[in-house]
Amino acid sequence: MPRVFIKTTFGAIRFKCQRCGSCCHHKRPPEFEDLVPLERLKEFCAKSNLICLTKEDIENISHQTRQKPRDFVDTLFEYDGQCVRVRDFGEKIILDFPVMKSKEDTTCVFYDDGCTIYSVRPRACRLFPFRAEEETVPQEDILLNISYNPTCPGIGEGRSVDSKELKKLVTDQFMQRSEEIALELQRLASAGKIQKDARIYRTLPGRRSCSIKD
Ligand code: SF4
Ligand code: SF4
Repeated sequence: MPRVFIKTTFGAIRFKCQRCGSCCHHKRPPEFEDLVPLERLKEFCAKSNLICLTKEDIENISHQTRQKPRDFVDTLFEYDGQCVRVRDFGEKIILDFPVMKSKEDTTCVFYDDGCTIYSVRPRACRLFPFRAEEETVPQEDILLNISYNPTCPGIGEGRSVDSKELKKLVTDQFMQRSEEIALELQRLASAGKIQKDARIYRTLPGRRSCSIKD
């Protein structure tokens, strides 16, 4: 079982949301294909601001809004609550993580002159402009580097950020997602559906028109 370490890539910093709404306009870098190989994930994440959702985020939003997940969840394949797809006789593993759907003008489906689901907004939104990049370090341990998006006008405003609270949010989001994926991978591996040297890809759709149907 890998250990998870976490660190911030900056010193003391102040932040206060200016409610400009620019993080509610989602962006997917156009130069990427639908399947993003892991070695290009860092580049993808640096250029995008898609809102990743955990299963708990989806349940909370669905419960609060009475909307079905398919109304606000964007995945490359048809969303059925699972995130792992296996292709090419087990040689290719595709992690199809759900992201928030956007309207035609790229605003989040829950944006209407402000967030309409503020009390149940996803962890990724609570975290923004901060985000974590995952790095594998010796002994297969995992390091989560917390950085921030410097284009957010709230940086440098308001109170000092509580780094303890920030680390807790990041750890919480990471653990939820890891546990969801680990369970699915375990189930597929026990059923003999994954090859040992399988290549892993990520999908980060953020645009419904390109969906591949199963
Ligand atoms: S988090 Fe930053 S980008 Fe998002 S609404 Fe607040 S100030 Fe704007
Ligand atoms: S859920 Fe709310 S805070 Fe998050 S992107 Fe949508 S409108 Fe913005």
